[in-house]
Amino acid sequence: MKHILVIGGAGYIGSHTVRMLAQQGYQPVVLDNLSKGHREAVSNYPFELGDLGDKALLTRIFQKYPIEAVMHFAAFIEVGESVKEPSKYYHNNVAQVLNLLDSMVENHVKYFVFSSTAATFGEPVKPKIDETHPQNPINPYGNTKLMVEKMLADFDTAYGLKATALRYFNASGADDSGEIGESHNPESHLIPIVLQAAAGKRPSIKVFGDDYPTADGTCIRDYIHVNDLARAHILALEKMMKEDKSERFNLGSGTGFSVAELIKEAKKITGIDFKVEVAPRRAGDPAVLVADSTKAQQVLGWKPEYSLTRILQTAWNWEQNRKY
Ligand code: UDP
Repeated sequence: MKHILVIGGAGYIGSHTVRMLAQQGYQPVVLDNLSKGHREAVSNYPFELGDLGDKALLTRIFQKYPIEAVMHFAAFIEVGESVKEPSKYYHNNVAQVLNLLDSMVENHVKYFVFSSTAATFGEPVKPKIDETHPQNPINPYGNTKLMVEKMLADFDTAYGLKATALRYFNASGADDSGEIGESHNPESHLIPIVLQAAAGKRPSIKVFGDDYPTADGTCIRDYIHVNDLARAHILALEKMMKEDKSERFNLGSGTGFSVAELIKEAKKITGIDFKVEVAPRRAGDPAVLVADSTKAQQVLGWKPEYSLTRILQTAWNWEQNRKY
């Protein structure tokens, strides 16, 4: 059984990937400091408590389990916060990852799947963003992820560490089982906030800007279900290990929805007419981010399975019965 170290495995995308790894016959080992993650999300798997950049701990883990690859999900991910507190982002998302990569090289662990982001591209110069799109991030969060992508290219050249960078667009939805889902504290992401407004847990949803250069003035994003992302990780891992080659893929549905459209769909699915307010723009937000995932489809045979409606349905099911 292949052992995969999943760092940040107790978090949102990490926990869905851990579950899918186990379903597909892998042995996930979770490393998480629980600063954001939830122990309940990974109660069935080997669990190590600690920081991703703690080299002594990493060495112990690499000695304890026959780890063949590392998946890394333990990053700070909020664009707005990264503008206000960049130091926190450079420490966690870059410096700590450098320690991790050093530790992998020292312990001869050769394969790495890296959670990157659409935010590495900055303002789009074409309607859909493929892997050839220039990378000019417009916020510190995107900068940190791009820096690691560059480190990975250099680590491959110098040390032969193979890495696949997956640039997620907007991860969303919850597992169909209802056992795991999205839970950030405080929550900053659109879909959970919208559904919390529907559930009466918030007085309203604030739309950050209605004066963007889009048809209805609100930002357009590409929402991709968390289990579609989890599946892409496993496909990418298998491809990388088979071909011993570094890669990068953009992962989205290829369809954009505006904030206003998403709210409309959420009202339809929940049957609740919650209150919507317009608020000022949020710093660091590009107007439109939509993926071109042709490469992932062609190279990995990956195709998203969940529509926006299914995404909202699974997220609504989670919101009404959340376990954490
Ligand atoms: N957004 C919003 N109100 C909120 C949260 C988010 O209008 O309470 C908008 C945000 O400005 C962006 C989109 O929803 O245009 C998606 O934001 P989210 O934080 O979910 O993901 P991001 O695109 O930043 O990764």
